[in-house]
Amino acid sequence: MTLSDLPALNVAELQVLLRRREVSPREVLEALQKRIEEIDPQIGAYLSIDFEDAFRQAETADVNLPLGGVPIAIKDMISVAGQPCTCGSKILRNYRALYDATVVRKLRAAGAIPFGKTNMDEFAMGSSTENSNVRPARNPWDVTRVPGGSSGGSAAALAAGEAFAALGTDTGGSIRQPAALSGVVGLKPSYGRVSRFGVVAFASSLDQAGPLTKTVRDAALLLNAMAGHDPRDSTCLNESVPDYTRRLGRDLKGVRLGLPREYLVDGIDRQVRAAIDAAAAYFQSLGAEVVDVSLPHTDYAVAAYYMIASGEASANLARFDGVRYGHRAEKAQNLFEHYGRTREEGFGPEVKRRIILGTYVLSSGYYEAYYDRAQKVRELIRRDFAQAFEKVDALISPTSPEPAFPVGERSADPLRMYLADVFTIAANLAGICGISVPCGFAQMEGGTRLPIGMQLLGKALDEESILRIAHAYEQSTTWHKERPPLAENAHASAAAAASAARRPIQL
Ligand code: GLN
Repeated sequence: MTLSDLPALNVAELQVLLRRREVSPREVLEALQKRIEEIDPQIGAYLSIDFEDAFRQAETADVNLPLGGVPIAIKDMISVAGQPCTCGSKILRNYRALYDATVVRKLRAAGAIPFGKTNMDEFAMGSSTENSNVRPARNPWDVTRVPGGSSGGSAAALAAGEAFAALGTDTGGSIRQPAALSGVVGLKPSYGRVSRFGVVAFASSLDQAGPLTKTVRDAALLLNAMAGHDPRDSTCLNESVPDYTRRLGRDLKGVRLGLPREYLVDGIDRQVRAAIDAAAAYFQSLGAEVVDVSLPHTDYAVAAYYMIASGEASANLARFDGVRYGHRAEKAQNLFEHYGRTREEGFGPEVKRRIILGTYVLSSGYYEAYYDRAQKVRELIRRDFAQAFEKVDALISPTSPEPAFPVGERSADPLRMYLADVFTIAANLAGICGISVPCGFAQMEGGTRLPIGMQLLGKALDEESILRIAHAYEQSTTWHKERPPLAENAHASAAAAASAARRPIQL
């Protein structure tokens, strides 16, 4: 192994080398910087990187801390003091965060080095990262396809070997779905497990930040550092945090898994379906029991989610008015023109669509018919899960009904994009936890292979169970070890290096 191989490592592997003093935090960053310069022009995973600051942090990094000296990429929705925080939006193009989000502060306390901000759909609205108003991100397995979204930059960076671990946010699937489409691990913690302080709000009753990683163990390591009570977020639960690595490695005897009947319906890609069926059979061979369960209100989840998420977004995004920070329209004649033009110029089409929809569902006369009714559906969905979890320890399903789709294919059809969130959004509505792990590949025409992700859903605050089950599966399969063919393409990396020289990474 040479220094240039370092970025392919996962966090646990990197820690071994750091603690044995075989490599220094500075060397790790140098290798990462080189890899990013070589590869990122093809991928577009990062929106901004501050290596100068990262090298300063590396000087004093204590490698004996839980994440000592480990560089971590942060979704551009999460505040890192002094760094840009654009949320993929023009309206925050020149904004720099004034303080660290609690999750970032906790990661720093664990010794990690936040060094760069990753690409995303504008304000996390989307499932493909095509709604990034800075530039789209690409899927490392096939650069003509999307990496998923909205945390697509974080997922793509890991898959392309230009990050060791990353943070994302998940309001309706934005950690799990890009993890699935890019072939990495993504964990959405239960609502209230992780502080939202300093995480730009999309839909406050659904948002959670969580890790995207190359392995399940790494997800547990990051969650150890991130989870826990924060007096600055009143929805953050005051519950003790277990060591999430403690139960990894146990076998699955006696574990009961449920296959939600309503999730395995028409419309799922044939190869995705086959991969989930194979995983269910495989779980049985590992000693788990797999039973059918029912989540009868599944059909209403997408509609309820888009009412609630858009309603909350319309309220949260009212603060972007060009007065205190962010983009400001020039030469407005009066205050209302100032607000209107600032928002007209600053927000992209998907964000505008959600604000308009959300304002409508909250408006007087329609509130009861839409927002209120959606909240009632939400309660029914929560009960569906509560009933299912009386019988099983976790649920298994595809994370996404299809593998990564071509860039541009769905941009004109938002409804089609929304419907593909069907397996992930219910977990946010119910406040439970979920993880996506690689479980196979779809063979496409022309020889391309695209990763398939399996979702495991667990009870609220029972991240330990889904981590344990996901880990047992991962360790007895090899899907997570596969890498996209990018790295071997010497011609492409030479071209990338040349264009990297032309295009600086800093925004
Ligand atoms: N794709 C969903 C949406 O567009 C979920 C996004 C998210 O989790 N941030 O709202």
